[in-house]
Amino acid sequence: MKTLPLFFNLNNKTVLIIGGGDIAHRKALLMAKAEARLVVIAKHFDDEFLNFLQSNHHQAHQKSFEPTDLNEHKPALVIGATDDHETNLSIHHAAKAHGVPVNIVDTPDLCDYIFPAIVDRSPIMIGVSSNGKAPVLARLIRAKIESSLPSRLGELAHKAGEFRQTVKNTLPTLTERRYFWESIFNRALKDEKIDSLSDELNQFKNTNNRSGEVYIVGAGAGDPDLLTFKALRLMQQADIVLYDALVSNEILELCRRDSQKIFVGKKRKDHAKTQDEINQLLVEYAKKGHRVLRLKGGDPFVFGRGGEEMLACQAANIPYQIVSGITAALAAGSYAGIPLTHRGVATSVRFLTGCYQTNEAFDGLKSAYQTDETLVFYMGLHALNKIVDSLIGSGLPSDLPIAIISNASLPTQQVLTGTLTDIVDKKDKSGISAPAIIIVGRVVDLYQPQ
Ligand code: SAH
Repeated sequence: MKTLPLFFNLNNKTVLIIGGGDIAHRKALLMAKAEARLVVIAKHFDDEFLNFLQSNHHQAHQKSFEPTDLNEHKPALVIGATDDHETNLSIHHAAKAHGVPVNIVDTPDLCDYIFPAIVDRSPIMIGVSSNGKAPVLARLIRAKIESSLPSRLGELAHKAGEFRQTVKNTLPTLTERRYFWESIFNRALKDEKIDSLSDELNQFKNTNNRSGEVYIVGAGAGDPDLLTFKALRLMQQADIVLYDALVSNEILELCRRDSQKIFVGKKRKDHAKTQDEINQLLVEYAKKGHRVLRLKGGDPFVFGRGGEEMLACQAANIPYQIVSGITAALAAGSYAGIPLTHRGVATSVRFLTGCYQTNEAFDGLKSAYQTDETLVFYMGLHALNKIVDSLIGSGLPSDLPIAIISNASLPTQQVLTGTLTDIVDKKDKSGISAPAIIIVGRVVDLYQPQ
């Protein structure tokens, strides 16, 4: 982080601006909006600028800048906006000598602070900065934020500020108050008009908004871009997050910052919590009124035991939502460039597991293999030799292509291809590691190494 965004209270503080042209004028307007008292020093003033200063009771001094101006005016901030480098340098040095933060326009080396691109929905303020690297990008981002925020937001934030104490008196717990404000602001952000906060509060009190809820959410195969909008929304609402080993830090960071995050493990043979304990935690936290997010790799209902969590919620009468995620098989196929079905090659796909709940390894196909079929194995890497032996034993051709995709969709993704005959050897030599998806079938011939 090169600079720290802060919001500076300039109310009734003096800002010294040196320069009488267009840029100084624009900075002066901004400072005046922040209710600063302006002292402007310039050898020449644009008429319009001078007019503005005089008619708003700011000071305009038509003279050259002297370092002693700082003694006299004791500004809280200094802005140098002259086109003379020597003068700008002297402004910078004088400000430094007085310990006053200074900005010399368009000269990053001489700036203690920079002006962000601003979205003003007072009291909501948003500043965007590229730290001088890409100001056009910062402005485009500002425009994007500007167009996505309803115009009435500022007005509502004002009213909310005045109504806070009433809400505090009415809703005793922090959690309840947070739910109330979230429901109001979420609707406002969707451009819904909120007419009366006191009506809203009464309604909130009278409906049962206090019961907790469980969100069983698929986080996708690893790349955060594979999250669904719904997953992201719930991640940003949840009070408590129970997450798996397959959920990366990058994804976890997208959860609400102040949510409590609990690792419940789920690596083979390394379960930090048993499934029963997880089910119990979900129910217990929800009963206390929390919104509990069960964040799982891939899709919750594909080898994810999300079904058991759903049944636990049903049994305890806890409201729940299930959010599908992009399962590893689909991500592995698309990120490796291996279509799971392909016209004339494969017309069906079978999802299998190389490891059963009992921890036994794969013990054969339950029904005969079709030549136009793709087999996809989850949790199979450790049992690859058994899978391959069993497939060959079931009569699959030994030259049938097979691919291992590890860390699908992540920057560490690796793809290894071979045939049923040579893949075990290749895998041992390559050191490819879990998590990995194994794809078996003619579709693997479509793979093109990048
Ligand atoms: N519910 C998850 C699967 C959990 S089982 C889903 O829908 O994807 C765990 C197995 O998923 C791993 O052993 C591995 O086979 C597979 N897996 C999960 N993420 C993966 C990834 N990024 N790349 C390859 N395989 C992955």
